[in-house]
This record gives sequence, structure tokens and C-alpha cells, in this order.
Amino acid sequence: RLSVASFASEKPVEFSKVDARLLPTVLLIGRPNVGKSALFNRLIRRREALVYNTPNDHVTRDIREGIAKLGDLRFKVLDSAGLEAEASSGSVLGRTAEMTANVLRMSNFALFLVDARDGLQPMDLDVGKWLRKHALEIKIIMVMNKAESLDDGFGSVDAAAGEARMLGFGDPIALSAETGLGMNDLYEVLRPLLEEHMMKIVDEPVDETNEDCESSEQEESKLPLQLAFVGRPNVGKSTLLNSILQEDRVLVGPEAGLTRDSVRVEFQYQGRTIYMVDTAGWLQRTKSEKGPGSLSVVQSKKNLMRAHVVALVLDGEEVSKARRSLTHDEVVIARRCIEEGRGLVIIVNKMDLLKERLYDRVLKAVPEEIQTIIPQVTGIPIVFVSALEGKGRTDVMEQVIQTYKKWCLRLSTARLNRWLRKVMSRHSWKDLAAQPKVKYFTQVKARPPTFVAFVSGKTRLSDTDLRFLTRSLKEDFDMGGIPVRILQRTVP
Ligand code: GDP
Ligand code: GDP
Repeated sequence: RLSVASFASEKPVEFSKVDARLLPTVLLIGRPNVGKSALFNRLIRRREALVYNTPNDHVTRDIREGIAKLGDLRFKVLDSAGLEAEASSGSVLGRTAEMTANVLRMSNFALFLVDARDGLQPMDLDVGKWLRKHALEIKIIMVMNKAESLDDGFGSVDAAAGEARMLGFGDPIALSAETGLGMNDLYEVLRPLLEEHMMKIVDEPVDETNEDCESSEQEESKLPLQLAFVGRPNVGKSTLLNSILQEDRVLVGPEAGLTRDSVRVEFQYQGRTIYMVDTAGWLQRTKSEKGPGSLSVVQSKKNLMRAHVVALVLDGEEVSKARRSLTHDEVVIARRCIEEGRGLVIIVNKMDLLKERLYDRVLKAVPEEIQTIIPQVTGIPIVFVSALEGKGRTDVMEQVIQTYKKWCLRLSTARLNRWLRKVMSRHSWKDLAAQPKVKYFTQVKARPPTFVAFVSGKTRLSDTDLRFLTRSLKEDFDMGGIPVRILQRTVP
């Protein structure tokens, strides 16, 4: 087996350098009085907490969110009073059940707190039952709080741990939110879990020589999707966003630890968490600036890199009047997205303003022009909508999610090499005698999919060969519309 070690990131994740939005979220859950707030406060220290008011069916629930600091670890921590109220009222599937489930879905991990001093209570069992039913995709870590109050000499820590274990979430960590006892144990347990999570979500090259990596593809495409709507002022971004958010909005609020004007919109779409990346910030800035270069996203490469999928919104009426479908700014953005390896979806809005002939012209002109300006990527999805009339909202989200799934695609090495043998014989080589020998083909990373062809001998793959391989790969594995990269490496 060949090694692609040079692509593997062996450095530990530096959490302090990770953008706050990408940090994993840990939910504190448990019946009232187990010490969730105490632990929350210890984790965020004196840093500010953000309180979400989440009106739902006339019931207001407060959810506190803050950035936790535990050694060199950083993560988002959620303390939810809503869950607690539900557990205490016994109506686990009450009016706030949906809201509560959403909070759970926002989380990647949960610390399930019990009180070591009081021992297990019936309500702990209720919370456990609720978690088992709802927290299917979340790793739950058992925490036994107030452990400092136990007398070690009498072995009561063990007894309490035995009880906590009965809840069925494994060995508990004994800690004290009050004194800080056991926080190092919490660190030891969280560190590998959070690190593994970050490896998946941060765009770092990861060694993927593993043959069964295809199995992770499904889970990966379920990770929160970072979506950015960009476009010139007045094309209808806000209108479109509102029509999308209408039914699915969960939380809207300023992000803890970020500048005041950057707002994150987080919502659920068909059970999937979607982060609208810095949308309002861009909208505000783009609205206040005029003239060429007014799309601040062009300057702000970092913002763009944060998005997994970029939805570029065009004004259909302007397209129908102009000689070219895309303005200079729009071309720059579209190209930039592809160069930076983002998924791109083009949205043509205000189609309601166009009568038959113009309508048809726009329908034809935009795809042609997109193909001309981004010849390297075929099949970029283009959706024609009317945000004002609420038409095409579902299509937009459908295309965004399809693009994201393709962007997350992982193909096993075995499958790729079977494919390679077939495709090599399909290509008309320039010089059959000096045909490059591709020994091995593997996907080194997803998000976006990146491949390496290991070539032996003197001849390397020409640009034409690489284009052929890229095109074939996209066609055969349905990866149209996303930037797929093939690198080549020589091996003896
Ligand atoms: P919550 O309802 O789960 O958020 O619980 P709180 O954080 O409000 O704590 C409930 C009570 O337990 C308060 O009186 C806290 O002072 C106390 N408490 C919290 N953590 C500890 C701990 O580690 N040891 C002890 N002895 N008491 C604690
Ligand atoms: P933004 O600056 O891109 O956020 O654009 P807005 O959402 O504020 O929309 C700018 C103007 O275009 C507003 O007057 C909207 O009512 C209008 N508009 C937005 N979408 C549509 C649409 O689909 N059809 C029509 N006719 N007007 C639209």
C-alpha cells in the first residue's frame, strides 16, 4: 500500500484558532438542581453568555450559549432551561418537544448530569429515557456532579458511579462544578471526541487511504451545512431568505464572541442543521456600499472559505435587459467560489417580472453564460425563482443540499481503482507507447472531493489527461457542479 502520509494532518487541532462558528457544541442536560448552571459558569468563566429567547407556542424558553474554555479546548456550550422544565413537568412530549429536539440537534455532544450526593432520582431516569429516544446521533457523556461532597473513604464514589452507570450511558466522570474537581477528567474524555469532530468539519487534509471510508459519507453530509447567500444589493436576497426561513427558523441571534454586526442564522431544513454564514453581515455591507467592487465577499476570502455552499443570487429582470447575464462582480464571485473549492448554486430571482419571450431568453442565456465563464465545471445548478411569490423556495434548498452532498462525497479506494482501469482504456492517449502509468488512484479528502493519481515512470499525466480524468470522474460518480480536484504524484 502506498502512503499518502504527506497529506495527513498529524498536528493536533488548535481549538483557539478555530472560528467560533465551527466549534463543536456541547449541551448540558439533566434534571433541575444537578448543577448545570454551575458547570456552565465554570466552563465559560467570566465570558459573556448569549441568551436565546425561543418563543414556541407562547412558551418562552431560555437557552444560554457560551464559548467554553477547558485547557486548550474550546467548544460551544448550551445550557437549556427548556429541557429541564419539560422533564420536571413530566410531559416529555409537551408543547416544547419540537423546540427541545431542535436544541438537541444543534448539539454534537451532551453532558448528562446527575447529582452524586442525592443519588439517582426518578427524574434522572426520565431524562435518560428522553435522551435515548431523541439523541440518536449525539454522543452522551455521563457526569456525576457534586462529587466533592462524597466521602472517598467509604467508597461512596464507586457506589454513586455504579448508580449512574445504570442509566446506560457508560462510566460517569466524577466532578464538582463548585470546586473544579475532576475537570481534568472531563478534559481527557472530551479532547479526543472534539478533536475527531473537528477533523471532519475543518477543511484540513485528512488521510483517507482507509478502504471503507464510503460509509462515513452519509453521516458527513448530515453535518451542519454552512450556506452563504451572496449577490448585489436589491437582487432579492432578503426576500428569498425570509421565504426560506419562514417555517424553519430556529434561532436567530448575534453569535457569542463575534463582532456585533455579524449575525448567524441557524435553522433546520428537513432535519438538517443549516448555518447561514454571516449572511446579515454581508447583506448590510453590500447594501451600504455602491459601485464596482461593492461585493465585499470578493475582498473577504475568509468569509467565502467558511461557506460550504454559496448561493449566488441574480436579478432575472436585469439579466433580461443586459447584454451579459452576469455583471463583472458576479463573475468574480462565481469564479472565486469554484477556485476556492466551494459548492456553487446560481439563483435567478424575480422571474415573475418576465413575460414569455424574455422568460425563455433568460432560461437559456444564464446556463450558457455560466458554462462560458466557468468552463472547468459542468452542471452547476441554476434555479429560477420568484422570492416575492414564494416560488422556487423548495427547489433552492433542494439544489443546495444536493450540491452539499456531492461536496461531501467519499469514494473508496477499491472502487476508484476499478473505475480507473476502465477509464484508462477509454481515453485516446496522445502517444500510446508513452502512456503514463497510473498505478493507484485515491481520494485524499472530501469537502470538496480531492483525488491523487500516483504515476510511475517517466511520463506524467498531461493537462488534457487530467481534464479527461476529472470529467470522467464527475460523470461516472455524478459530481456535476462541484469543483473536483485531481493532483498527481510520482512514485517509483
Ligand atoms: P441546575 O438547576 O442544574 O442548573 O443547577 P444549579 O447549577 O443551579 O445548582 C443547583 C444547586 O447545586 C446550587 O445550590 C449549587 O450551588 C449546587 N451545586 C452545583 N454544583 C455543585 C457542586 O459541584 N457541589 C456542590 N456541593 N453543590 C453544587
Ligand atoms: P437584497 O438587497 O438582495 O436583500 O434585496 P431585497 O430582498 O431587499 O429585495 C429588493 C427589492 O426587490 C424589494 O423591493 C423586493 O420586494 C423586490 N423583490 C425581491 N424578490 C422579488 C421577486 O421575486 N420578484 C419581484 N418582482 N420583486 C422582488
